[in-house]
Amino acid sequence: MAKSIQYNAQPFDWETRAYWEGCGRHEIVLQRCRACGVVQHRPRALCVSCFSDGIEHFVASGRGTVHTFSVTNQNGLPAFREACPYVLAYVALEEGPQLMTNIVGCDPADVRIGMPVVVEFCDIEDESNEDGAAVPRFRPA
Ligand SMILES: [Zn+2]
Repeated sequence: MAKSIQYNAQPFDWETRAYWEGCGRHEIVLQRCRACGVVQHRPRALCVSCFSDGIEHFVASGRGTVHTFSVTNQNGLPAFREACPYVLAYVALEEGPQLMTNIVGCDPADVRIGMPVVVEFCDIEDESNEDGAAVPRFRPA
């Protein structure tokens, strides 16, 4: 059985703080534009559609589908070597944005485009994680 990828925490910046704090609560926090309604990710100061700064945050459902994926069978970096094979994927969230993530909880050979998935969170357990971040990953729904 492959070990999990070793995730490391980075300091939050002001644009991404609400997202990472949400992950620490095991919630996906997205942004919605109050002016035009666009839902966006990654977090930004302005709406990507109309450039309004009227951005609000909300908790997403945590559900989506696999948009595309790749199975990594070989990676020499120490943090990834023991996790092979692992699945790197873009998940299309129900709310619209896509999230680059890992698919876990199933054999990598069973992952399919369009597969319904649900989020789970991997807590980062090292001294680099001063802010209590966690990493969203997805498993079959
Ligand atoms: Zn907008």
